[in-house]
Amino acid sequence: HGKRGASDIVVYAGEEMAAHSTQWLVVQAELRHALARDELVLHYQPKVDLRSGEVASVEALVRWQHPQRGLLPPSEFLPAAEQSGLIEPLTAWVLRRALADQAHWTSTGRCWSVSVNVSARNLEKPGFAEFVAGLVAEYGTSPGQLLLEVTETALAADARRAAQTVVDLSSRGIGISVDDFGTGFTGMSQLLGLPIAEVKIDRTFVADVLDSPQSQAIVRAVIALAHGLGSRVTAEGVETADVAYWLRRAGCDEAQGYLYSRPVPWLEIPMYEITGAAS
Ligand code: C2E
Ligand code: MG
Ligand code: MG
Ligand code: MG
Repeated sequence: HGKRGASDIVVYAGEEMAAHSTQWLVVQAELRHALARDELVLHYQPKVDLRSGEVASVEALVRWQHPQRGLLPPSEFLPAAEQSGLIEPLTAWVLRRALADQAHWTSTGRCWSVSVNVSARNLEKPGFAEFVAGLVAEYGTSPGQLLLEVTETALAADARRAAQTVVDLSSRGIGISVDDFGTGFTGMSQLLGLPIAEVKIDRTFVADVLDSPQSQAIVRAVIALAHGLGSRVTAEGVETADVAYWLRRAGCDEAQGYLYSRPVPWLEIPMYEITGAAS
């Protein structure tokens, strides 16, 4: 590809990617190098217990510290990773980094659970549950302190293997969280048979919960159903104290969002009681 440097190439996502096979190959190669050179970084965003106002756990969110383009959000490179098979080494990297960080902060007295986002493809890979359990043992952390976040659609009715992996993970003590709940077409009924530790209400419903009776109905219904199934409920995208207050009154267990903290390097996770959380 002539004199063009790898950094000149735009990262295309989804279907566009197929139409740009040269770029596609460059992205793959760049991502491979990013993994080898440790250019990926994790930021963490706390989940706050709405009753105590304390940090209950933290979610790992991957970024790419690109040498030329700066800090890239996952939307810039995850679609490429998912379609190229690089999602497997990427998830393995994220899990290792998160477990190593967790082992470190636990040793300094901060017993936060850690959440890691995984893709449908990860769940479909035979042996994934065993692999994750092996990493937990390797880092000496507790399986009960690890939560894997999977989107609702990854657990759709036809995703039999993904469902099996969920059962396998759960039997090894590792928690499953259903991310962005309410946006897919799966619905609660398809989660009925699955061991779900946490349901995360998508931020589209959370954002307008004060103004939209429809969102209020959805949030209340998700809370009732999740609790009925024995799951904890977390609201994502909480940006104001008023929304946090409404959620707490509605019985939501945990909240996450810019009100408390943006995703930050773990050293910057607030350790004090967070103002507004329990007000
Ligand atoms: P997610 O797991 O639903 O994470 C929440 C996203 O919303 C994050 O974006 C977070 O920065 C953003 N967010 C958090 N609080 C607020 C808020 O109050 N307001 C608004 N407007 N946004 C908020 P981010 O970090 O860009 O991640 C986007 C998505 O990328 C994640 O959505 C997750 O699905 C995926 N992702 C991130 N890291 C990983 C990873 O390591 N592996 C996999 N497979 N997917 C990942
Ligand atoms: Mg998530
Ligand atoms: Mg989410
Ligand atoms: Mg989301």
